[in-house]
Amino acid sequence: MEDEFIIGIDLGTTNSLVGVVDSGFPILLADENGERITPSVVSYREEADPLVGREAYRAKRLAPERTVSSVKRLLGRPFSDLTPEELNTLSYPVTNDGRDHIQIPVGKSEPVTPVDVSSEILRHLKQVAEAALECEVARAVITVPAYFNNAQREATKAAAQKAGLRVERIINEPTAAALAYGLDKIDDDQTVAVYDLGGGTFDLSILQMRDGVFEVISTAGDTQLGGDDIDQAVAGELAKTWELEDLSPSESVNLHTAAKEAKESLTAADSHTVRLPFLRDGRSFEHTFSRAEFEALILPVIERTRPICRRALAEAEGKEVKKIDHFILVGGSTRIPLVRDKIEEWFGYEPNLSQHPDEAIALGAAIQAGILCGRVRSIVLVDVTPLSLGIETFGGLMNVIIPRNSTIPAKAGEMFTNAVANQESIAIRVLQGERELAKDNWLLGEVIVPFENGPKGSARVGVQFAIDRDGILEVLARDTVTGKDHILEIRDAAVDVDDSEVENMVSESIEYAFEDMNERVWTEAKLKSEELLPAVDTALQMVGDQLDEKEMSQIKSAADEVRGLLSRGEKDAAVLKQANAALDDATQSLAALLVEAAFSDMTPG
Ligand code: ADP
Ligand code: MG
Repeated sequence: MEDEFIIGIDLGTTNSLVGVVDSGFPILLADENGERITPSVVSYREEADPLVGREAYRAKRLAPERTVSSVKRLLGRPFSDLTPEELNTLSYPVTNDGRDHIQIPVGKSEPVTPVDVSSEILRHLKQVAEAALECEVARAVITVPAYFNNAQREATKAAAQKAGLRVERIINEPTAAALAYGLDKIDDDQTVAVYDLGGGTFDLSILQMRDGVFEVISTAGDTQLGGDDIDQAVAGELAKTWELEDLSPSESVNLHTAAKEAKESLTAADSHTVRLPFLRDGRSFEHTFSRAEFEALILPVIERTRPICRRALAEAEGKEVKKIDHFILVGGSTRIPLVRDKIEEWFGYEPNLSQHPDEAIALGAAIQAGILCGRVRSIVLVDVTPLSLGIETFGGLMNVIIPRNSTIPAKAGEMFTNAVANQESIAIRVLQGERELAKDNWLLGEVIVPFENGPKGSARVGVQFAIDRDGILEVLARDTVTGKDHILEIRDAAVDVDDSEVENMVSESIEYAFEDMNERVWTEAKLKSEELLPAVDTALQMVGDQLDEKEMSQIKSAADEVRGLLSRGEKDAAVLKQANAALDDATQSLAALLVEAAFSDMTPG
C-alpha cells in the first residue's frame, strides 16, 4: 500500500485546508472552484445534506441559527467550561445535553455535537482531496493548537473517524508551520517562535529542537482575539462615521462584509473606498480609508497580542531559552503589514516571510503526512551524494566507491590487498571529492586495519560504504582472512555539504581534469615501473649469463630508459608507459629463461 496517499489537514477555527505530498512536493489541494481555503462553516438543512465551506458561509446570512461557524472553539470542551461572553459571540444557540456535553440544535430532529460539525468539515476536505487526486483517501495528519488538551485532541480524532479518516498523527499547529518553513533542519537547541493570528484566535508558541524533534517550550494565547476583532473595529468606525445606530441584522452583516473586504484590500493598497448602496432608507454610503486611518483604528487590536507574546517569551526564558533563532508568522491576519512592523518594533525580530501565512500550517501537515508515507524522502532530489566518496589507494590516488549524485540510501564496496610484502596494516582513508589525487580531496576519516605478515597480495580487505536515509556514512573494512570487522561512522559530512563548497570542488575537478588525469596515469605507470625494475634485476642475476650480448644491452638500455624517466621530474605519463612496454618486450626471452630455470630446479637430479 505504498502508493496510498496520506493527506495533511489544517482544521482551523475560521478556515480549513488540505494538502498532500505529490511527486516529492507538498501542495495544497483546490476544490472544483479552484479554492484552496475552505471556510470552517457548516449550514444544516432540513431535507438535504448540510452545506459546507463557501456555500455554508453564504447561507449564514439567511439561516444564522442553523449555520455553525468557529465550531473549533467548542470542540472537546464540556458545556460548563463555556463563559457567558463566549456563548454571546456565537451566532447560533448551544445547549447542555444534561451530561455537560455541548449540543447545537440546528432545526433537525436531533441536535448535533461539535464533533459532528467538525466531521462534516473533514468529510468535505476528504472529498476535495479525493476529487483532486482521483483516488480514495482514508488516512490523515491533522493539526491542532499547541494548547489543545487531551480531550480536545481526542475529539478531533473522533471527528476524523466519523468522516472516514484514520488519523495517523495529530501534530501541533506551530510545529507544522515550522516544518513548512523548512525549520526541521535546524540544529539541536535552536528555537522557533510561531506567532499565529487567525480569524478569531491568537497564540504564540515557542518551540525548541531537541534530538531532531520540536518540543513546545511555552505557549500563550487568547481564544477571543483575531481578524474578527479587526473587522469589528472597522465596521464600528463605519457605523460611527455614517451615524448609524441600532443596526438591523442585515445592515450589520453588510457592514461587516464591507469591513472585512476593506481590511483585506488594505494589505496591499494604500487606500480603499467602501461603498454601500441603499443601505438604509434608500440612502447610499461611502467612505475612503487611508492606510494611516486604518492602521490607527486597528492598532489597539494588534497591541493586545503584545503582552501575550511577553508571557510566552518570559516562560521560555524561565526554561533557559535565551534567544529566539527564527520568528515566523502564520494565520491570515499576519498578512497585515502593521502586524509585521509591530513585531519587529517590539521584539527586534525580523519575521521570516517566505511562506503564505494562511497556508503554512496545512503545508506542514502535508509534509508530515508525506514523511509518514515515505513520499518525501524517496522522491525529493536533494537526497543524493553531492560529491564522490572513496578511499585512498596505494600511490596516493582516489578510488571512488560511491560516485557523486548517487541516490541515497546507497551501498557499494571493493576488495583491496597489501601492496608490498610484510605490510603490517592498511590505512583506509575515507575521502570525499572529485579530484584524482587523494591529497586534493577532503579526508573524512581513517581506520587502520592490521593484518598478519605475508607476501604481497596475501592480505584481503573488503571495504564497504553504506549511506543510510539520514545521510550517515558507515565504512566497514573487513579482513577477509580473519573475518574481523572495523567500522567507521561518519555523520553528516557524506551528504550535508555546503553548496558553494560542492561547486568549488566540481569546478576545480574540471579545471584540473587534464593535469589530474596525467597524474593518475603517471602514478599508475610509476607503480608498474617500480614493480618491473627490481624483477628484471633479479632475473638478470639469476639467468643473465644465458643471454647473448645484444639482448643483454637491449634490456639494460630499456631499463635505464625507465629509470631515467622516473628520476626526471617531468612526469610524462605517456612516455613512461611506453618505456614500461618496451622493457616488457625486451625481457620476453629473459622471462622465458626464468620460467625454464624454475622448472629445471624442480626436476630432481
Ligand atoms: P484560522 O486559523 O482562524 O482558521 P486563518 O489563518 O485562515 O484562520 O485566518 C483568517 C483571518 O485572516 C480572517 O480574519 C481573514 O479576514 C484574515 N485575512 C485573510 N487574508 C487577509 C489579508 N490579506 N489581510 C488581512 N487579513 C486577512
Ligand atoms: Mg489557523
